[in-house]
Amino acid sequence: MAKRNLNLFKQAKKYLVGGVDSPARGFSYVGSEPLVIKRAKGSRIFDYNGNSFIDYSLSFGAIILGHSHPAVVAGVKKKINTGFSFGATNKTEIELAREIIQVIPFIKKIRFVNSGTEAVMGALRLARGYTKRDKILKFQRSYHGHVDYLLVNAGSGLATLGIPASSGVPKDFIKHTLVAPYGDTDYVKNIFKKYGKEIAAVIVEPAGGNYGVIPPDTNFLKALRRITRELGSLLVFDEVITGFRFQYASLAQVLGVTPDMICLGKIIGGGLPIGAFGAKDKIMRHLAPMGDVYQASTFAGGPVVMQSGLSTLKTLKKLKKDYKRLEKLTGILTGSLKKEALSRKISLKVSCYGNMFSLKFEKKKQFSSFYKFMLKQGVYFAPSEFEANFLSFAHTQKDIAKTMNAACRGLDKISVVH
Ligand code: PMP
Repeated sequence: MAKRNLNLFKQAKKYLVGGVDSPARGFSYVGSEPLVIKRAKGSRIFDYNGNSFIDYSLSFGAIILGHSHPAVVAGVKKKINTGFSFGATNKTEIELAREIIQVIPFIKKIRFVNSGTEAVMGALRLARGYTKRDKILKFQRSYHGHVDYLLVNAGSGLATLGIPASSGVPKDFIKHTLVAPYGDTDYVKNIFKKYGKEIAAVIVEPAGGNYGVIPPDTNFLKALRRITRELGSLLVFDEVITGFRFQYASLAQVLGVTPDMICLGKIIGGGLPIGAFGAKDKIMRHLAPMGDVYQASTFAGGPVVMQSGLSTLKTLKKLKKDYKRLEKLTGILTGSLKKEALSRKISLKVSCYGNMFSLKFEKKKQFSSFYKFMLKQGVYFAPSEFEANFLSFAHTQKDIAKTMNAACRGLDKISVVH
């Protein structure tokens, strides 16, 4: 590997807070300097010195086809010539909305926004406006974006940095936020006993991707469905990560649990900034301009991001059957990691669901030394044990073999040092 250009990151630190625009990108957890990335193609990202890295972070799960997929690039290039932002509805926006609603039939209307955070904000405001209730129930260690009142007991960057609740959020703002342990039906029942008719919505990641990977607990999700229905609260699935990730569908459909509302993001924008929320008409019609729940945006539904999303979904649709291959490849990688760690008597927990996985060593310093070693070998995992890793359709057996070759040597180092 060519030397990394740390000077560039020095400059980044001079002008950007911590050298990054999002805390999860910082490498404080692994005690290193983050990469500064020049370009990305397929399963690889490249730094400014021409070093290439097999990318398992994939823009925190936004990329599924692989970076710069030719069909997406071609679609976006063509669309760019027609203008960037009209502040008006465009045809591509209608087409993407139609495609998503056809694939996820339990929603009948959708609102596009610019990020997962905005999707959650809009969905929960609508839930509150629709039910005329104030309280929201979320789960410990889930992450739903940087919405003020959800930044308590959250995963992702907050877990990585050990921040229990964000400073800058007035106590008053979180007085309507209830938090329960994920998977504890009795706890949820008790909360509903106490607050019953005050709870507007329960928001849940159907598979956890922000405190390591937490596979879905279908029985628990079904219990949430029953409880919310009985007490008139809305069930909101935050599928910002999981939507279109495991099948050409929402995870809700894969699991057979139908929420009232879904939040989407990441994959549906093909790598450009997007979010969306959707529900049945009877809920969505409460949203402005039809109803009195206000939500607005200058850039939402812009033609370029809509095209990036549409080209991505059209390509994904053709690759529908390949999701199985992706899952298999992920199984090979995670299975080998487990086996190699075990044979060296290293306690490594590999959590995996579909094509998403996370790594947790017994000690944090084992993770950081493994991480730094892998980076030197050209393998880029998500830079925290709390963040999820992913595979894309561009990842190959060869990538897995190269990763495992490096991982064996990385694990050897750990077993000697620690
Ligand atoms: N919900 C979930 C489940 C997420 O994982 C994330 C971000 N990783 C968000 C919401 C927020 O999305 P964004 O970063 O696009 O605002």
